[in-house]
Amino acid sequence: MINEFSDRIDKIPSSGIRTFFDLVENAKDIISLGVGEPDFSTPWFIRDEAIYALEKGYTTYTSNLGLLELRKAIASYVERLYAVSYNIENEILVTNGVSEAVDLIFRSILNAGDEVILPTPMYVCYQPLITLAGGTVVPCNMADTGFSPDPDRIASLITKKTKAIVLCYPHNPTGMSISKSTLKKIAELAEKHDLWVISDEIYAELQFEPGFVSFANLPKMKKRTVLLNGLSKSHAMTGWRVGFMCAPKELVSRCLKIHQYAAMCVSSASQYAAAEALKHGDSAVTKMRKSYHQRAQLFTDAMNDCGLSTMMPDGGLYCFPDIRKTGLSSLEFATKLLHKHKVAVVPGTAFGEEGEGYVRCCIATQLNDLMKAAKRIQSFVKDPA
Ligand code: PLP
Repeated sequence: MINEFSDRIDKIPSSGIRTFFDLVENAKDIISLGVGEPDFSTPWFIRDEAIYALEKGYTTYTSNLGLLELRKAIASYVERLYAVSYNIENEILVTNGVSEAVDLIFRSILNAGDEVILPTPMYVCYQPLITLAGGTVVPCNMADTGFSPDPDRIASLITKKTKAIVLCYPHNPTGMSISKSTLKKIAELAEKHDLWVISDEIYAELQFEPGFVSFANLPKMKKRTVLLNGLSKSHAMTGWRVGFMCAPKELVSRCLKIHQYAAMCVSSASQYAAAEALKHGDSAVTKMRKSYHQRAQLFTDAMNDCGLSTMMPDGGLYCFPDIRKTGLSSLEFATKLLHKHKVAVVPGTAFGEEGEGYVRCCIATQLNDLMKAAKRIQSFVKDPA
């Protein structure tokens, strides 16, 4: 057996979410609030479009940038919802989920030792992908600033090596969005220090109240923003693997180089389905958003009722209860809750050490099960020892 592997890959940890869920896999009668996926199946009109594409024999590679029809649909979707316009010829790239886009971006902008400011806790993929691209992660703790990035703290972390700031709103794992005034202050910093802003807006369509502001829409920001979005969450399409980036053409052309060698294109049937979803999906998305909103409110109330202080999320699929009053660490809480009451939640530390004291609960769970899980958590909190 050859026993030589890349040092780079051996240095990065496996996803904390997956590690915890290996425990869940074999357990019976568990209610899982774990993996961050919509509990809806993809709406039928979207599935039908993929079936038609297959029936018509549209089964070949597409353009490396993505199917023209899909890029057109993305351009009008982004223009319609976020009032930013992008050129379909060279400013939009269709990727295998937002996950691939994140990888392409860091590999395209970072040289060895370049720093990326990452507000933490944060979704799990950024840190390892920055490290794999040779960059250095500079965490910016948000746990003591209401889970919103503090522009003054970001300013204090900027050095000559800083290349980019990563934003994600509504946020995974906390559910918090970022106010327009904070976004503007971050924009000023980006302009002053000539930084990229990687804005992961995958939950934008699931912000509960209207008024989502895309970072690219702020004055002077389009030229330095990489807007990331996709259909996994908004259109209940996690398994289809369709995401996209909208960015200046100089960056898209570099990401395209890697994408064309490493992925070629996204599955063609998925792209036909995604085009249909973006063109005609608004009412389906509204229905799903309303349902998540209702469930997030009920779950937040149930957590606050039992003394686990929980902020009502601004959007997305998660609540992030503060479990510190139980005296347990996040991992102890999640492990004991799983063994004693058969509810799976993700320890906050899966999203960085700043997530200690919290657990992530996915509210995209059938209402009956969600409320049953809430009751079990309430019983657990009474006697967590
Ligand atoms: N970004 C955030 C904030 C996420 O929560 C997720 C998935 O959970 C992703 C990106 C990856 O999504 P995709 O399915 O588009 O790769």
